[in-house]
Amino acid sequence: MDDKRRKKDVRAALERTGRRYTVLNRELRATSQCPGRVFLLQELLTECATWPPATVDWGYDSALAPEVFESDLLGGAIPFGTVLELAGALAQEGRGVRLALESSLDPLEEAVVVSSSRSGRRRFQLVLSQDMVNELCRYPQCRNRPVHWTIVRCARHLAESSVKELVMMAEDWGMALSDDIGQQDPLRFKGDPHADLLIKVATAHGAFDAVCTAFLRSLFEDPVLIDERFTGTEALDVRHAIDREQMRLHRIAVAEVRRIRDEAGSCVSCGGNFRSGVFLDVPARFCSKDCAPPPPATKPTSV
Ligand SMILES: [Zn+2]
Ligand SMILES: [Zn+2]
Repeated sequence: MDDKRRKKDVRAALERTGRRYTVLNRELRATSQCPGRVFLLQELLTECATWPPATVDWGYDSALAPEVFESDLLGGAIPFGTVLELAGALAQEGRGVRLALESSLDPLEEAVVVSSSRSGRRRFQLVLSQDMVNELCRYPQCRNRPVHWTIVRCARHLAESSVKELVMMAEDWGMALSDDIGQQDPLRFKGDPHADLLIKVATAHGAFDAVCTAFLRSLFEDPVLIDERFTGTEALDVRHAIDREQMRLHRIAVAEVRRIRDEAGSCVSCGGNFRSGVFLDVPARFCSKDCAPPPPATKPTSV
């Protein structure tokens, strides 16, 4: 989408919604990689509420198929239930969230839509043969599911996350675990594979400390608040659980650095040998911070 077209779309959206130019412009940039037109969830819901059911040839007993309508916005038949599922998945973003088709709809099979709001860009597979929606990895065009709803990329594309994104995922995942165990019975926590995965990716970026700290704070408690929130043995238990998990994650990080170094053989930038010690603030494939490239800026299309 060129700038002229985007400006036109922003103006049209401003007239429809009365929202601020900068917000709309940012959201439009995020959805502008998609070839289809940009529309609001509200507009899709209006279609869903007002369009009559359509008759389509499924090629099998239509009693087994969902009830659909012909969506002008998506350019094909879509189950009423799929639209409602999508609205449910986007409940936090609200009805003003912007949507765009990532690629043309595959009739009666599926469509991938990209949503863009202040909380980020998300991708959804709309299943057109069932009342169903699947959230996809946030990497453009990727067909995989995210590792978890808080870890918003697939295992392959997690490695391409920025440090800021990894910190956010570690916080969200720690929070998800916290309700269940972190704050109820901290000593029962014995480690977790998703946390290990985040730590390994963070280590490759030289960002062990930031990601580990974010995870532990969300899972258990911010160390400076422990004495305010817990008393006596409870506070001791929380500190002990934090220390134990921190050491466990540290061991995972050191092992990951060694694995990455073994795989690389030498610094991928200068070809020199790795230093003998393990430095978790240096991206693991480089011999020093001087050799590591500056961290990439977070793109507007990412998390
Ligand atoms: Zn992916
Ligand atoms: Zn080097």
